[in-house]
Amino acid sequence: MDTLTDNQLARYARQLLLPQVDLDGQMKLQRSCVLVVGAGGLGCPVTQYLAGAGVGHIRVVDPDQVELSNLPRQVVYTEADIGVPKVNALTSRLQAANADIVLEGRVGRFDADSSQGLLDGVDLVIDASDSNQARLDIDRSTYERRLPWLMGAAVQTAGQWIAFDPTRQGGCYHCLGSAERDEGQGGCAALGILGPVAGMIAMQQSLAALKYLLGAPLQWGVVHYADGWADEYSAITLSARPDCPLCGSGN
Ligand SMILES: [Zn+2]
Repeated sequence: MDTLTDNQLARYARQLLLPQVDLDGQMKLQRSCVLVVGAGGLGCPVTQYLAGAGVGHIRVVDPDQVELSNLPRQVVYTEADIGVPKVNALTSRLQAANADIVLEGRVGRFDADSSQGLLDGVDLVIDASDSNQARLDIDRSTYERRLPWLMGAAVQTAGQWIAFDPTRQGGCYHCLGSAERDEGQGGCAALGILGPVAGMIAMQQSLAALKYLLGAPLQWGVVHYADGWADEYSAITLSARPDCPLCGSGN
C-alpha cells in the first residue's frame, strides 16, 4: 500500500498537519517495524504511542504475567488482566485501538538465543526491559546487525535514556562502565517506582523513536538523566572507549 485510506487520513489528521510528518512521514511510519523489549512501565506507554502514531509493525516481547502491583504505572492493564501474559493483554488492547497495524506479542525474554528471531525485519529496538543483561544482549545483537536502539530505565523518582546509533559512532552501552550501567538499576521491585516517572522516560523513548523513523536527527550517545521529583534534568555525552569489548577499535 503506497497511499493512505480515507480512514487513515482522518485518523492521523493532526500529525499529518506537521511538516515533520506529512504524508511521506506517515508512510514511513506505516512501513516501519519496531521491537519493544518489555511490556511493563516503559513498554506499555511506548507501544501505545507508537501504535497510536501508526507505526505499521510492532513486536513486543516479555516473559511476565500481569500482577496487581503493576497496575499503578502500567495503566493499559485492568484488574481482569491479572494472571494473563502481558504481551497478550497488551497486543489485544493495542489492536483494539488501531486495527490497521500488525502487532506481535511474544512471551519470553530477549537474549542472545532469542535475538535472531526477534530482530528479523526490525528497524529499531526499544529497551523497556528493566534488565541490565537484556540491555547488554540488545547492545551486542543490534551492533552486529547495525541497528539502532533506545535504552530506557526508571526507578523511584528518576530515570535515564540513551539513543545508540547503528554503527555506534557515539559509543555503545558496553562503553559505559559497569558502575554507570548499574546506577539506579536495582529494579523497581526492590527500590520502588512512581508511575509517572516511568511514563516520563517512556515518552522520551517514544518521541525519539518517531523522530528516528521519520528521518529526523537524534542525539546519539547522549546519556539523559531526569529526576521527576527534584525537577533536575541533565545530559552527558558518552565517550566511545577505544578498549570497549564491543565497539572498541581492537574488535
Ligand atoms: Zn562500546
